[in-house]
Amino acid sequence: MVRPALEFVVQELETLKQEGLFVNIRTLESPQGAWIVVDGRRVLNLCSNNYLGFCNDPVLKEAAKRAIDEYGVGPGAVRTIAGTMKLHLELERKLAEFKGTEAVVSFQSGFCANLATIPALVGRDDVIFSDELNHASIIDGCRLSRAEIIRYAHCDVDDLKTKLQEHRHKFRRALIVTDGVFSMDGDIAPLPEIVKLAREYDAFVMVDDAHGEGVLGKGGRGITDHFVLHGEVDIEVGTLSKAFGVVGGYVAGSYELCEYLRQRGRPFLFSSAVTPADVAACIAAVDILLQSEDRVQRLWENACYFQNGLKSLGFDIGKTQTPITPVMLGEAPLAQEFSKRLFEEGIFAQAIGYPTVPRGAARIRVMISAVHTKEDLDFALEKFAKVGRELGVIA
Ligand code: PMP
Repeated sequence: MVRPALEFVVQELETLKQEGLFVNIRTLESPQGAWIVVDGRRVLNLCSNNYLGFCNDPVLKEAAKRAIDEYGVGPGAVRTIAGTMKLHLELERKLAEFKGTEAVVSFQSGFCANLATIPALVGRDDVIFSDELNHASIIDGCRLSRAEIIRYAHCDVDDLKTKLQEHRHKFRRALIVTDGVFSMDGDIAPLPEIVKLAREYDAFVMVDDAHGEGVLGKGGRGITDHFVLHGEVDIEVGTLSKAFGVVGGYVAGSYELCEYLRQRGRPFLFSSAVTPADVAACIAAVDILLQSEDRVQRLWENACYFQNGLKSLGFDIGKTQTPITPVMLGEAPLAQEFSKRLFEEGIFAQAIGYPTVPRGAARIRVMISAVHTKEDLDFALEKFAKVGRELGVIA
């Protein structure tokens, strides 16, 4: 029941339902994994960001339990007052080693890392050049900064150059910001060209590597390693909630940048630190990745196998270059119906529509994981074929 002043909320919900944009939030009754129990059904999981299978890894779980025994459950404060524990510093050191940067500063999430970083570096007198398909947390960070925001066409370096030429000189500082791997399409930002333009136009570069780390580069070291751009990208943002399987975010870069964000990043200053259990589990994940590339290799083998299977069935999987696999369906109601039918067939793959993707570009986004077996992927292909034919998406 809402009071009349909030009546609009009821109408908004109704509109979302009519437009096929109401998100049906499913509930997991099991740990993350290749197979999960959702709303009472055991289904094949094709939509988590658990790229490397770390979410329920015994080594990470053990590390978390030990950290609880040693450090308790809560950090008790924000990082700058009394919430920085030895574990936080150990994680930052390990991540810097993994990413090959001078330093790392960690945050409560990738979202927080973007909100902390952008407003700390640019303000009213400055300009941000932002890819039009950047993640919501980048967009919100840009808005919070109050800098002028100039959107350039998706991954279009010619458009970026034109806009730099036209606008750069009117502002004090300039930031070029892009997702590394675009989370809804799976394509990769043209980072070498962006870095070159940044040098030419006296701008600094920030890349959000949320879907690149654990996936791209040697042993999953991310987009900078993928393009061999070590030391060339000013700010690398990451999340610990996807390939790393836990929760948290970070910025990797120079020692001075990380020091500055500890002083000026508002979520770092005003929101409590990540819990000891989470931090310890993250450290364990980084340790595993520092030692072995096996999981990352399995992830790519699985992704290639599944994507080739979908393509030969006749599905449009857009322009992905990574394990993110969009199955393009067009209108949101079709995507919702597809997802519903898949679920009935034992496959959990959520439909994604506006505002997460543009109107008319609704899709099922399949997330492949290193823990899927070939039998799992064959099962999924068989069900996609069945539902695709039934709904007239493929012949
Ligand atoms: N950036 C990108 C590109 C993302 O896809 C996400 C997660 N959806 C985030 C940031 C936010 O990360 P987190 O879940 O750690 O807040």
